[in-house]
Amino acid sequence: MTNYKEIGLVNTRAMFAKAVDGGYAIPAFNFNNMEQLQAIIMASAETNSPVILQVSKGARNYANQTLLRYMAEGAVEYAKELGQKKPEIVLHLDHGDSFELCKSCIEMGFSSVMIDGSALPYDENVALTRKVVDYAHQYDVTVEGELGVLAGVEDEVSAAESHYTKPEEVIDFVTKTGVDSLAISIGTSHGAYKFTPEQCTVDPQTGRLVPPPLAFDVLAAIEEKLPGFPIVLHGSSSVPQEDVDIINANGGALKQAVGIPEEQLRKAAKSAVCKINIDSDSRLAMTAAVRKALADKPAEFDPRKYLGPARDRMKELYKHKIVEVLGSDGKCE
Ligand SMILES: [Zn+2]
Repeated sequence: MTNYKEIGLVNTRAMFAKAVDGGYAIPAFNFNNMEQLQAIIMASAETNSPVILQVSKGARNYANQTLLRYMAEGAVEYAKELGQKKPEIVLHLDHGDSFELCKSCIEMGFSSVMIDGSALPYDENVALTRKVVDYAHQYDVTVEGELGVLAGVEDEVSAAESHYTKPEEVIDFVTKTGVDSLAISIGTSHGAYKFTPEQCTVDPQTGRLVPPPLAFDVLAAIEEKLPGFPIVLHGSSSVPQEDVDIINANGGALKQAVGIPEEQLRKAAKSAVCKINIDSDSRLAMTAAVRKALADKPAEFDPRKYLGPARDRMKELYKHKIVEVLGSDGKCE
């Protein structure tokens, strides 16, 4: 058993309380390799932002659970080496789908877990979430639950249609489960194809797809039921067209990828939304940089020559999100 406190990590409790009060949101960036982790830590250390390192079940299988635990420990030391006095770094399980997986992550040094019972009938979601909370809280590990279903595909998580969270259920769910934060569905979506062209309008200037707005009325109704309670948004990549264009200009084939406009996320970050999950944008930044580097220099075969630019591009993306979208810069001691 590794307790996260021994390796310098923190849970989400204090950071969420501060974020809700301060009207900003904590970035939750998914990672599964070294360059991504370096970019996340460089960006958060340079902006003195708290950060949530997020690992899905698929990423854990990909990277190896033992290696991940030491990478997280290394991340804390690396942040200090970069000059951050008191790094606030969370290691979080994204979309835990069973009690056993959550337990195993807690034993391996995670400071926060998500148990996603959103696809289950309501009472089963409550029971499973309660079981995880009871276990996690013994170790002061925080738990994120989910109500409502997001559309889109993210590793093993996929759903054809979204169902908005029902505001009338949230008080009962939070009370019965004891969760520390709640992921809700208000129109964000997993992956790089968040909306079909039929769901979008077309910008007459650029010819690009404009997605439908988030359901801020649902968010407001939830906030009214649970004043000050930490709310989480999944599937909140913006799918920068610049990256999509670079990918497509260098041999890629991403057709009509579309994300959540940043001004909507900026608005959400000012509310009780205190954790915003971003994964696809980093995948796109990495792929754009790798494709371009390899296309520009076809004779290159040193991975550092294409993973280096990928790391730089991801770091710029993360800093942009922290400073320009979420507002979490300068929020560590
Ligand atoms: Zn998610």
